[in-house]
Amino acid sequence: MTIAVDFDGVIHAYSLGWCDGSIYDPPMPGALAGLRTLMEHDAVFVFTSRDTQQVADWLFERGEFDITWEPPGEVICEFWNDRDRILVTNRKLPASVYLDDRAVRFTDWDQALAVIQPGAVITNPLTHTADVGVKRVISLYEQWVKAGPPPLGTPTARWWDKRLAELRGVLHLQQTEDPS
Ligand SMILES: [Mg+2]
Repeated sequence: MTIAVDFDGVIHAYSLGWCDGSIYDPPMPGALAGLRTLMEHDAVFVFTSRDTQQVADWLFERGEFDITWEPPGEVICEFWNDRDRILVTNRKLPASVYLDDRAVRFTDWDQALAVIQPGAVITNPLTHTADVGVKRVISLYEQWVKAGPPPLGTPTARWWDKRLAELRGVLHLQQTEDPS
């Protein structure tokens, strides 16, 4: 399958945010080995809003990967299936998995809003049934099971805080909808 990997915050540590536009940080711990492991079985492309050549050069200097970079505005492929090289692109190509430090897994809009805006009251009349509330908790649970344990090196307290915030988001949403 094809795996899309975000650059900033996933491969490049990005501790100061965009800053001056340079790639100033070292790789995230495990990033280069992680990319190599992915490439043993899957095609990998790196997606970034940066200049693709800048990212390609950085990856080559640190990981000596064989790299193809797509100049902005050019389309060199519709799909990426090559396991021997990394493609660097600023387009969102089709992929089975998107690895991104700022992603929210989408199941449905109620669940997504509950994670992004925990205090928001959803106006969709469907959400007023208890059934939907239960479904939302179940889908959150399934999402956790699918995501598996925290990656090695993740502080457990932070990982738990995130889970609890997601659960609080779903429960709070139900409270605000409860007419009693
Ligand atoms: Mg990112």
